[in-house]
Amino acid sequence: MTISSPSSTKLAILGGDPVRTELFPAYNVIEQTEIDAVEKVMRTGVLSRYLGTWHEDFYGGPEVQKLEKNWAETHGSTHCVSVNSATSGLYACVGAAGIGAGDEVIVSPYTMTASAVAPMIYNATPVFADIDPKTYCLSAETIAPKITPRTKAIIVVHIFGGCADMGPIMALAKKHNLIVIEDCAQAPLTKYKDTYVGTIGHMGVFSLNYHKHIHSGEGGLVTTNDANLCERLQLIRNHAEAVVDAKGVTDLTNMIGYNYRLGEIECAIASSLLTRLPDLIQQRRKNVAYLEDRFSELPHISLPYCANDQEHAYYVHALSYDEAGAAIPRQTVIDALKAELKPCQMRSHEGVLIGGGYVKPLYLQQIYQQRAHPALQNEVSYQAGLCPVVEANHYHNLITHELMRPGLSQDDLADIADAFEKVFTQLDQLRGID
Ligand SMILES: *Cc1c(COP(=O)(O)O)cnc(C)c1O
Repeated sequence: MTISSPSSTKLAILGGDPVRTELFPAYNVIEQTEIDAVEKVMRTGVLSRYLGTWHEDFYGGPEVQKLEKNWAETHGSTHCVSVNSATSGLYACVGAAGIGAGDEVIVSPYTMTASAVAPMIYNATPVFADIDPKTYCLSAETIAPKITPRTKAIIVVHIFGGCADMGPIMALAKKHNLIVIEDCAQAPLTKYKDTYVGTIGHMGVFSLNYHKHIHSGEGGLVTTNDANLCERLQLIRNHAEAVVDAKGVTDLTNMIGYNYRLGEIECAIASSLLTRLPDLIQQRRKNVAYLEDRFSELPHISLPYCANDQEHAYYVHALSYDEAGAAIPRQTVIDALKAELKPCQMRSHEGVLIGGGYVKPLYLQQIYQQRAHPALQNEVSYQAGLCPVVEANHYHNLITHELMRPGLSQDDLADIADAFEKVFTQLDQLRGID
């Protein structure tokens, strides 16, 4: 440890020397093995083998089927259906569940937009329940008061790589005969007790978009242990209406299909990366363990909750800032942290990966405020104040960062921890500067 001179402890935002002057290393999970996997597919000339009719190619080509088999095995589900995004996967799940006009689906407001739009695709109404202050996910306590005779399903989002307390949610769903869809886009290999999320509810949805733990540019996967739901997902993915006659499908509910098919190249990339997924997540856990050890004594900041029998995937590291106690606006603290650090190589346009809150609580978007969809024209509330825990976290308490991605060295991590330490032990310097 070097003892800092008084001038070097002056915060960078006030003109002091920053902790870090060099860019952080580039973050890129793509390696030669993925390039080789793509080349192999390219040389076959068959970049997608799907046919949208009842034919052996209705299920896609060899890379599609290999990825589905490997994903199901890795996560411990009986079935897996690949799709061209997690968004498509969520839409297909709502369709497969048989949901339609007049039905209600309970959703989290603190998530990527598609998790709440999915019911609207089938003209069902999204009903927002608040998040639990520890997990940032829906809980049985927040869901229960929202259940009405119209409720058909719950979309639980395992946000930030953590997970909802699924035991009580599944018990509640069983009691009311509700379908549970798990949005696991941020939570691959997140463990709830002995089980990976995505295999606890009726269907689980994963993302392969560029920003996720592993990616193929775009892509998604749906896991299920139910053969009937699996078949309905496959039909919705690939022009159901053109297939049901010859396949002998008799329940035609939501059997208008889409084209949600994922290509052979994307599946080959994802299969290759899937073999490294456990290691990539292990690196995130190790980096977070170091940072949390360094952060644990800092004032006005608390660490994300992770139950003893849970394993977190750390899509982001979500810290809780006591804005009222510190009496300094969260944005000022974030600006001070950013001034001490640097962006990553190849992604410097993204800036330093620290932010306040996550996405605006979804019901505050104009689409809900103006009820600009047929499914939103009833008494369900989308008023400000609807979910106080979400609003407090989004506007005041959450500080999220991604400075725990794989590829950071011990020195890089030390700089990150030093920057947090420098700012949080000298918050007084920030008083009155905003
Ligand atoms: C990324 C994400 C999605 C959507 O994933 P796409 O593959 O981009 O469609 C859905 N839900 C959550 C929680 C996400 O983070």
